[in-house]
Amino acid sequence: AMAEAAMAARAPPDEEADECLREYRHLLSPDLLAGQVAFITGGGSGIGFRIAEIFMRHGCRTVIASRNLERVAEASKKLVAATGQQCLPLSMDVRQPQTIVAAVDEALKEFKRIDILINGAAGNFLCPASALSFNAFKTVIDIDTIGTFNTSKVLFEKYFRDHGGVIVNITATLSYRGQALQVHAGAAKAAIDAMTRHLAVEWGPNNIRVNSLAPGPITGTEGFRRLGGKFAEKSSVFNMIPLQRAGNKTEIAHSTLYLASPLSSYVTGTTLVVDGGSWLTSANNFTALLGIASSSA
Ligand code: NAP
Repeated sequence: AMAEAAMAARAPPDEEADECLREYRHLLSPDLLAGQVAFITGGGSGIGFRIAEIFMRHGCRTVIASRNLERVAEASKKLVAATGQQCLPLSMDVRQPQTIVAAVDEALKEFKRIDILINGAAGNFLCPASALSFNAFKTVIDIDTIGTFNTSKVLFEKYFRDHGGVIVNITATLSYRGQALQVHAGAAKAAIDAMTRHLAVEWGPNNIRVNSLAPGPITGTEGFRRLGGKFAEKSSVFNMIPLQRAGNKTEIAHSTLYLASPLSSYVTGTTLVVDGGSWLTSANNFTALLGIASSSA
């Protein structure tokens, strides 16, 4: 067995379900985002939920937006109870620009400002290209790629153009080595990383920073469950990862906090990979992935 993880690579506590952390020790000032407002798509579950929580624990008010109003309303109650900050739950579909416009109008009416946009909404599943319907491929591009563009454009026009702002797009490392069974999500996220650079260049003069954050395998998420995380836990797959483990939602939220805060004031147009070194060494084992795809179907 390995020695206890060195402090700098030790995972902070996390909760498996969409619940707030039972204990939280601040590593950065609790005032880091004081007075700011973050608009988080996909903020009702998984990684987006934890990002909302960690931001709120650093003084930020949040808007969490996704299709299912019941889901974001429930999440908002938990977030407010755990952090004492305000959280506005809103229903919107990133594929329908008019619903984004309505949500952003509502958010500005409530908070009078938006400083941070986190584009976290996405859909994914394992599927070989040969079995992927034309519509399934298109749907993932529609939600991930076009949804990120739609939301960024609305925020730009409604607020960021005149006030500046910061955008963090949650992407993935799937395309770096052409992960099997992931042509849809890999292509969609690669396009978002390109969009990150284009918009960083175009909107830099407006004091808008745009970056991507690419997580590796993250426990306690729908993505992890759907992409076979439970199977990976049982096998020795994590031995392939340089840091020898999956990441957790708190770790993604901490790295997102860095990108959204003034700590990264001169960082724009880049992708921060938060994966324990995973993509460098992952096996890309077609047969094993097919096994996961059929057992989880
Ligand atoms: P998740 O809980 O399923 O989060 C996805 C969120 O997107 C949900 O809250 C969903 O809420 C929302 N959403 C989906 N379609 C939408 C639409 N059309 N309009 C608005 N909102 C929509 O999954 P997660 O695993 O935490 O993933 C969060 C992000 O991290 C995603 O961008 C994912 O690609 C990325 N990521 C995750 C992992 C991982 O290991 N989990 C690894 C790499 C990257 P509604 O259903 O209410 O709309």
